[in-house]
Amino acid sequence: MKRQSTHDLEQLQSKRGSYDWDQYLRPNPLYYPHAIDAKGALEFNNGKRKRPYDELQGLLSKQNRPGENVKTVIHWFRNDLRIHDNTGFYTAVEESQRLGARILTIFTINQNDWIAHLDSNPKLTLMYQSLKSLHGKLSELGIPLYTLVFDSGEPKLSNSMQFVIWLRDQCLKISNGAIYLTANAEYLADELYRDIRVFAVSDEKFQFNVFHDTCIVEPGVLKTNQDSPYTVFSPWYKKWCLRVMDGKSSTNLIEPLVLEKRIYNDDEEFVHKEFSYYLPSQFLSSTTIPDASEDAAWSRLTTFLQKNVGNYLDKDTLLTEASSHLSPYLALGILSARCVVNEAFRLVGSRLVGKSPKDMTPVEQFIREVAWRDFYKDVICFWPYLSMDIPFNLSSLEIKWDNNFSNFQKWCLGKTGFPIVDAIMRKLSQDGYINNRARMITASFLSKNLLIDWRWGEKWFRKHLIDCDLASNVGGWGFVSSTGADAQPYFRVFNMERQSRAFDPNGEFIKKWVPELKNSKNVHSSIQEVESYPNPITDSKSSRQRALEIYNEGLYG
Ligand SMILES: Cc1cc2nc3c(=O)[nH]c(=O)nc-3n(C[C@H](O)[C@H](O)[C@H](O)COP(=O)(O)OP(=O)(O)OC[C@H]3O[C@@H](n4cnc5c(N)ncnc54)[C@H](O)[C@@H]3O)c2cc1C
Repeated sequence: MKRQSTHDLEQLQSKRGSYDWDQYLRPNPLYYPHAIDAKGALEFNNGKRKRPYDELQGLLSKQNRPGENVKTVIHWFRNDLRIHDNTGFYTAVEESQRLGARILTIFTINQNDWIAHLDSNPKLTLMYQSLKSLHGKLSELGIPLYTLVFDSGEPKLSNSMQFVIWLRDQCLKISNGAIYLTANAEYLADELYRDIRVFAVSDEKFQFNVFHDTCIVEPGVLKTNQDSPYTVFSPWYKKWCLRVMDGKSSTNLIEPLVLEKRIYNDDEEFVHKEFSYYLPSQFLSSTTIPDASEDAAWSRLTTFLQKNVGNYLDKDTLLTEASSHLSPYLALGILSARCVVNEAFRLVGSRLVGKSPKDMTPVEQFIREVAWRDFYKDVICFWPYLSMDIPFNLSSLEIKWDNNFSNFQKWCLGKTGFPIVDAIMRKLSQDGYINNRARMITASFLSKNLLIDWRWGEKWFRKHLIDCDLASNVGGWGFVSSTGADAQPYFRVFNMERQSRAFDPNGEFIKKWVPELKNSKNVHSSIQEVESYPNPITDSKSSRQRALEIYNEGLYG
């Protein structure tokens, strides 16, 4: 075996300056000076602390339709950058018509949120392009989109009182008379607390309302027979199917909300308003970003369903990535998840039932995968500490992670000496997208073989994925690292060589992303005789054994 090259380590060290590594190790103390611990998390579970989702639901139940005094209706776009089948936006337009009021839209920019949440440059660039496209589409309807930039000079998130007061002022500034502001709910703690605060500053002049839009079945609706939330996907999915089929015809699951194409404001100035916001260069991605328009998202959906869904059962293959690649669009709400499932359902040809995956057709499997997205949002609403860097299974906080920082860096940069892991991690850094299998392989390697706290890896994913959706990211990491809801058992440790043979049988994926190995006779092995490729940073067999012992001790000791 070749000796460890000091050159690699030097390169890693010099890279240290180009990444702010601390951001992966803990929540940013500038924004979260009082991050919660297990005790704080337990308070949500034992009722000492109210869940923000329940608070929001309480506020929503008291909402009335806007009064006749309203002169301007505003829709606040957030993670719903689309016109078609957008509940909050559609309601805003309807109410403006009923009241004879102007209809405007806004999008707020707060760089502090991006930094604190580790939003990736590919995702922010996609968002920016999508915003531009949305601006153009809204102009055709005579509806202006104002991009409002919050710049307090202080590290203040959008759930701060400063932001909320600023938002109210900005809305009043662009309106005449009383306002009705609509938005679609977002289910992460920061965003829920933000909306709760916006409700707190609402009054006769500034009425606010939030709608459930992003899920097919809104969080909290599906309960076990004991009236508790589900923690296991399969029985939840059976109920989900019953719910979406309830009283529906066999051709359509939903009636999408479609806006009539016409001019909604007569005011000339609105129609020709230029899009004037520029994404600052430090957030711009150098990666090729998919076309961000709503039309492009629809085109990807229809092409997938018409031509490619038949190959869906091969979605795990790393080179071909036969899944839909809709995740960037779903994460930003450029496409409605309801429409995705509805369009897929038209191909099912019968009722949707929660069969086990092995009995499903490819389309049924696809619908089931989209339902995982709903499941994780349901879970994060009931256990809000999941969006506060605390694992679902609080006992897992006892796991004695090895947390070797140098190994973490090597995992991040694709220099572990395990070809399959390195290929995937290099693709992630360059492309911003890896498929579900790739996410599982690398997450398993980090949390089990390297015994590194999965939360470090979760943050690295966040900072690099174009499709990051925190509920799904935390959910996926929790599943693989055996610390989450409906997690795989702790003794399930992937064998890297076996995964490599199964999902990259010809080694083409590895050779593409790890060109050092292009002449290797066995790319699946961690033993390589190539000078420029690192030695393995751990041993598969002994690291597996170590993981079993430490996990067992942490979870049950
Ligand atoms: C460690 C880990 C981290 C993950 N992080 C994210 C993330 O940040 N954002 C994200 O959208 N998904 C995440 N996933 C889930 C899944 O890997 C991606 O949704 C999927 O790879 C996206 O590709 P696709 O759109 O082609 O998927 P398809 O298979 O075509 O699925 C269609 C849609 O269904 C949803 N979906 C599919 N699988 C899952 C799943 N397991 N959990 C939740 N939703 C799912 C997604 O919205 C996806 O776009 C993660 C999974 C793991 C194991």
